[in-house]
Amino acid sequence: MSKELEKKKIAILGSTGSIGTQALEIAREQSDKIEIEVLTANSNADLLIKQAIEFKPNHVVIADDSKYKIVKDALDKYDIKVFSGNKAIADLMEITSAEIVLTAMVGYSGLLPTIKAIENKKKIALANKETLVVAGELITSLCAEHKVNLIPVDSEHSAIFQCLVGEDLNTIDKIILTASGGPFRGKKVNELLEITKKEALKHPNWTMGAKITIDSASLMNKGLEVIEAKWLFGLENNQIDVVVHPQSIIHSMVEFNDGSIKAQMGLPDMKLPIHYAFFYPERTKTNFKRLSFKEMNMLTFEEPDKQTFRNLGLAYEAMEAGGNKACILNAANEIAVEAFLNDRIKFLQIAEINETCMNKVHFIKQPTLEDYISTDSEARLVAKSLIR
Ligand code: NDP
Ligand code: MG
Repeated sequence: MSKELEKKKIAILGSTGSIGTQALEIAREQSDKIEIEVLTANSNADLLIKQAIEFKPNHVVIADDSKYKIVKDALDKYDIKVFSGNKAIADLMEITSAEIVLTAMVGYSGLLPTIKAIENKKKIALANKETLVVAGELITSLCAEHKVNLIPVDSEHSAIFQCLVGEDLNTIDKIILTASGGPFRGKKVNELLEITKKEALKHPNWTMGAKITIDSASLMNKGLEVIEAKWLFGLENNQIDVVVHPQSIIHSMVEFNDGSIKAQMGLPDMKLPIHYAFFYPERTKTNFKRLSFKEMNMLTFEEPDKQTFRNLGLAYEAMEAGGNKACILNAANEIAVEAFLNDRIKFLQIAEINETCMNKVHFIKQPTLEDYISTDSEARLVAKSLIR
């Protein structure tokens, strides 16, 4: 077989973001093994054009219709088809020859393209955790129906996934998700009243997109990850624990029925789980910086503070309630985080808005896809009405 035929054909949804650009760094470093088929962005036309000229995908989508002409004109002399609009991202999943789809867009926008990718039997490298939070039950049943693997990219879930290779899932007692604790670890409510956007955007260990960075500061991210883990690994609610581990070296752990615990470790670098997802089930060589135990002389652990960081508790409540509750929480949180980033609400109001929406928005025990779509809209409206 020629080298060309062996290349992994990859679609990167959200190529201009933090995960997307790191995925492209891997593609650049391993250009003999990776071929980029699709690149998509929301509105960052300049970067999308630059990426398209470098990686020569077959298809490019800019979600923001007003940027279509700029991208189309810039790529006119290349053999690259350009589309615009969110629907085009989902529709492309039907025609692209990519075998692997990296879902690296942010928030609810990942849901419909991921569904289309699963229906078209693509292997999913899942960064967009919100998709599983919004509609975990639907997504996992679609994956079973279409015999599609979800390979986690989120570092904690990649860790658990790696710990489970060769294991019988029925022997899991519980999983332990590690959390860095974010920039406000150890602080109490009275110290969080006047938190600024700048302080919240300063994550101690990871450089990420703005939304997930705020989610990390509010522990919403860990809450979303608890729900993500439930669906990825088919766990009961009481099988998912969270421990704060400020150094972010142990990415997560699995405790088995004999009491043995497996952990996956490494420096905090998202390129590692992205690379693992691209090449799974193989491990291939990288030149990533290695963890040295001589430099890392202490790993510590503590309980998360669910009283101060209400969002983590809310996620457990949403998971317990089931139905569309987590979809409500996710939509409310997206609106609240956006409002915080636009200086319209205070940091602690994020959890307040989330909780109020969870109580106010119409609960549906067994939602269909249409129900999730209408729940998302309703929850956004309710959240917006709370921001005045
Ligand atoms: P970024 O905000 O950095 O990037 C998001 C990407 O999605 C950009 O390409 C953006 O385009 C695009 N996008 C945003 N909104 C839309 C929309 N409505 N329609 C289509 N495309 C859109 O996010 P991250 O890379 O940080 O995160 C991506 C996903 O990965 C999230 O779900 C996050 O939770 C998850 N994740 C991220 C980690 C990280 O280290 N960053 C770690 C683990 C998980 P544009 O640039 O034009 O705005
Ligand atoms: Mg994570």
